[in-house]
Amino acid sequence: MAKQIQAIRGMNDILPTQSPLWQKVEAELRASVSAYGYSEIRMPIVESTDLFKRSIGEVTDIVEKEMYTFEDRNGDSLTLRPEGTASTVRAGNEHGLLYNQEQRLWYMGPMFRHERPQKGRYRQFHQFGVEIYGIASADIDAEVLMLSARLWEKLGISEHVTLELNTLGDSEERATYRDALIAFLEQYKDQLDEDSQRRMYTNPLRVLDSKNPEVQALLTDAPQLSDYLGEDSKGHFSHLCELLDAVGIQYTINPRLVRGLDYYNRTVFEWVTSSLGAQGTVLAGGRYDGLVGQLGGKDTPAVGFAMGLERIVLLLETLELTKDIPAPVDVYVTAMGDNCKIEAIKVAEQLRQQLPQLKVMSHCGGGNFKKQMKRADKSGASIALILGENEIAAGQVAVKHLRNNNEQQLVARDDLVTTLAGLVE
Ligand code: ATP
Ligand code: MG
Repeated sequence: MAKQIQAIRGMNDILPTQSPLWQKVEAELRASVSAYGYSEIRMPIVESTDLFKRSIGEVTDIVEKEMYTFEDRNGDSLTLRPEGTASTVRAGNEHGLLYNQEQRLWYMGPMFRHERPQKGRYRQFHQFGVEIYGIASADIDAEVLMLSARLWEKLGISEHVTLELNTLGDSEERATYRDALIAFLEQYKDQLDEDSQRRMYTNPLRVLDSKNPEVQALLTDAPQLSDYLGEDSKGHFSHLCELLDAVGIQYTINPRLVRGLDYYNRTVFEWVTSSLGAQGTVLAGGRYDGLVGQLGGKDTPAVGFAMGLERIVLLLETLELTKDIPAPVDVYVTAMGDNCKIEAIKVAEQLRQQLPQLKVMSHCGGGNFKKQMKRADKSGASIALILGENEIAAGQVAVKHLRNNNEQQLVARDDLVTTLAGLVE
């Protein structure tokens, strides 16, 4: 037998048994953003490598070691997008969507990062994100957090996620703080791990985010960014907290929360769960007022977040919140004998025409009663319709209940639509 080809490590198929859960999550996401009046944007999956280098930052995990970068046939350096924000800004600038305008956008799609695959961490994964342009005030920061809280509610996971919040101030404030932090870290240089030593001068704030408990212990007396913030930054943050308090969204202020991408300023946040082990961040984002200008547009305030869909799906599975996912088929139509096939097809088509919400599968390929009923059961349908010669002669259809003990009914063809409409909502 020929050798089978396997999928690329860390890149998953979403199988037919899994896709109903994905579709449910996606439908809730679409409904939520639409309730806030946001518009969808779809960007290419491949961009110029420079776009990500200039936005995410040269000294970040993503750009240093996670990008899928390749040369195309023209010798241009291209990269499979590792995230959606940079592409959204690129598209916004390119099409004049950001210039003196407000935009509330959302996107959903695959992202690519060459990371070590493990539970909740893959090389192709999917993000759902929102990006808002042209609004500097904290009410929009609050809105995206309200939107995310509403999502958790709709998905039934509000009890399992918590919000961590921080402010990074403006770039000048961060620059002053950066110097103070470097001076502090220099005292402990020999005790820092390799990663932190490397980051110390290039991206010292990332040291705060270290997962190494020994590094974390050294940081106890490190200078705090909050002590370096000016009145404007402080006011922005306290206004955000006030709004969240007013709408009843709980949060923890985490002064070490810095995020791994360079473009953030002021507000940063993460929604985390303790139910997924190490990969506990399900949604992350913040404000990035400098990025539009940095990528060649006119300075435009911006805020957004990205959510990892695999982690949400995993969370729903872990919490066993997948029970109300509808089966792909409601009604399975069988035909007992070759003479009944045409009538069975007509019945199925009539149902699809008159009950467009109903999911109707026709048995194909013949076979005896037992075989057809087995298929009906396997399809997940709650009802099988049986068309045999007797039923057809009498202008009737037998309605067999597959998921409860109700008696089989004989229904006149003319009444079938009404009967089924009542049985399957
Ligand atoms: P992490 O700290 O888990 O590496 P990150 O800071 O790299 O996350 P972001 O770039 O902010 O993550 O992406 C936002 C969200 O996308 C994450 O919170 C997570 O839910 C999801 N995500 C990021 N990388 C992956 C991945 N490799 N596989 C699956 N989901 C991911
Ligand atoms: Mg990462």
